[in-house]
Amino acid sequence: MTLWLLGTHLDRTAASLDEHDRVLLIEATEFAERRPYHPHKLTLVFAAMRRFRDDLRARGLTVDYRRVETFAEALDDHFDEHPGDDLTMPRPAADAAEDRLRELVDDRGGSLSFVPNPTFLLTPEEFDEWAEGRNTNDPDTYRMEGFYRWMRRRSGVLMDGDSPVGGEWNYDEQNRETPPADWEPPDPPEFEPDETTREVASWVDSTFETFVDGAETAPFRWPVTREEALSALERFVDARFAEFGPYQDAMIEGEWAMTHSLLSASINLGLLRPMEVIERAERAYEDGDAPINSVEGFVRQVLGWREFVRHVYRRSMPAMADANQLGQAEDLPPAYWTGETEMTCLSEAVEGVRKRGYAHHIERLMVLSNFALVYGADPQELNEWFHQGFVDAFHWVTTPNVVGMGSFATDALSSKPYASSGSYVNRMSDYCSSCPYAVSRDTGEGACPFNSLYWTFLREHEETLRGTGRMGLMYSHVDDKGEDEWAALEERAETVREMAREGEL
Ligand code: SF4
Repeated sequence: MTLWLLGTHLDRTAASLDEHDRVLLIEATEFAERRPYHPHKLTLVFAAMRRFRDDLRARGLTVDYRRVETFAEALDDHFDEHPGDDLTMPRPAADAAEDRLRELVDDRGGSLSFVPNPTFLLTPEEFDEWAEGRNTNDPDTYRMEGFYRWMRRRSGVLMDGDSPVGGEWNYDEQNRETPPADWEPPDPPEFEPDETTREVASWVDSTFETFVDGAETAPFRWPVTREEALSALERFVDARFAEFGPYQDAMIEGEWAMTHSLLSASINLGLLRPMEVIERAERAYEDGDAPINSVEGFVRQVLGWREFVRHVYRRSMPAMADANQLGQAEDLPPAYWTGETEMTCLSEAVEGVRKRGYAHHIERLMVLSNFALVYGADPQELNEWFHQGFVDAFHWVTTPNVVGMGSFATDALSSKPYASSGSYVNRMSDYCSSCPYAVSRDTGEGACPFNSLYWTFLREHEETLRGTGRMGLMYSHVDDKGEDEWAALEERAETVREMAREGEL
């Protein structure tokens, strides 16, 4: 009886660890060769696996840690040593992974069964129970907001009897502030790599083709053990949580972390359980350490959005990965890889990804995805870019967030696109003041690239978008524009596209 764990199953608190004869961990280079991942992502996953192995062995557990090229090779060795073994694994989140893994085991004369995955709050059956009878094409019934309220009631998190704590389900209205000019966010924690992590990092640098050369990144800083992840959680609550809510949509030049928790990678690897971070957030509210708008905003991400996208992805695959309802087909501009662009907003966000494998939520949605959306980039290519570049990215995370929400390639997750002109970036950041482009201008040389792309995007996709019923205000502005204005917008958009293609934007 073997418990087979993937690199996203590193939950040291799982009871199943003690219920098996041994734990099998396979460090397969095939995973790292599949796509040019960010070097910090590879270092994070492999270092976390090795530290997890060491922790389990120190506890007296038997761990078979196999460093191989492929899973098949490791399973050949495993079944040579343990013929006919019964394997158990927490259910993997990636689409079709269960079938693929089960086939590998069946072919070698063993058996593989799946158990609930503790890195998620709901089993597929529990989510399906919520979804049953709801029309998945109806925004009013199969949407995150209704699901989130159901989760709040079901879990009792931030509930006062049948009512939400504080009287509201959602405090977004209070969470769109920009900080005063002299505000500086507290430094986020940095976890000094130990010998294992350093060894993994140099092996990654010398072995794999990566998203960016290891020499170009900032020092590796991510938690690789449960202790470090718990420390990151505490330090977030102590220093940044109170201001997380009000400034969660704000962006400041040079401030890559703002007051974001930076816990997603730890949760996605299993170093932290989702319910423990939710309970910690709730306690911070009860202790008076964070206001309700910060706590509710954070809880919504983990209790609501994370679970919702995981299961919508599960139920929408494989179609979701190939969705492209707007028929967008442009190659992603080279600036997404090089970071070389005069656009301050795009350059800041891409540099963050290149240096650390990270950009925060609003940079992901309103800069990186928004620009690709109005530019007309292929959603699959954008999804691939996110998947390669981010430390917390996995197919189940990026596909719904990027293909669904960011690209509006499917309406499975939102009923309108998150498209905006430069005015959104200007309102929520200080980027435009140092940018050579003029956010106030739509047309002509030097006009903010977002603006002409945004208007021409709305016009080009009018047939699909006007009909969503959620775009009335935007289309009233479209209707106000005269033909001369449209000609100038089209001309500027074409110039911007050309410059972006040539890497000259
Ligand atoms: Fe971005 Fe436009 Fe503002 Fe420049 S002016 S930072 S391109 S939104």
